[in-house]
Amino acid sequence: MARYTGPVCRLCRREGQKLFLKGERCYSDKCSIGIRGYAPGQHGQGRKKSSEYGLQLRAKQTARRFYGVQESQFRHYFDVAERKQGVTGDNLLKILESRLDNVVYRAGFASSRIEARQLVGHGHFEVNGKRVDIASYLLKAGDVVAVCDKTKGTEKMKAIIEANGAKPVPAWMDVDHEKLTAKVINLPERDQIEAPVQEQLIVEFYSR
Ligand code: SF4
Repeated sequence: MARYTGPVCRLCRREGQKLFLKGERCYSDKCSIGIRGYAPGQHGQGRKKSSEYGLQLRAKQTARRFYGVQESQFRHYFDVAERKQGVTGDNLLKILESRLDNVVYRAGFASSRIEARQLVGHGHFEVNGKRVDIASYLLKAGDVVAVCDKTKGTEKMKAIIEANGAKPVPAWMDVDHEKLTAKVINLPERDQIEAPVQEQLIVEFYSR
């Protein structure tokens, strides 16, 4: 599937907030949001007032970019969320959080979702003992994600764990940084999800 390959800091600047797309750099003073905290492009420092549609569009784009999902797939997730029982916005977030690349990132096995996606694509992870190389693979409660045996001892993985192992892990996951496994205890409720997402605006965007 096509994916965005342009400069990612531009996406944060467009959304006017940190989306944490570059790992360590996002926590340093090199972060572009701190240096040029205005939208990119010729009119980036111009008019700021947004219409209702503009706000809804930005909310949708922010969520999409935060999770690294292309438009068609995001729309598909929305349709699935709408068909499920419960609150559509909550369902949508639950689906996004259950992606394999997100779980790998949240568990601290990658420095960013982009890196997580790449590591998954290169076959460095197993789900319930079977190798899975699809970043969009959706996990269920009880699934166990593990770093493949071959990857465990590599310098790259050691460096990732050293940099991210101490970061807080969501309560809906049970992570073992020694064995390099992460179990999904249950899929998260809205109050367990830390994400700059205004799901109600996204629902309004697709309901126009
Ligand atoms: Fe966004 Fe990270 Fe770039 Fe800062 S360094 S603008 S948070 S991607």
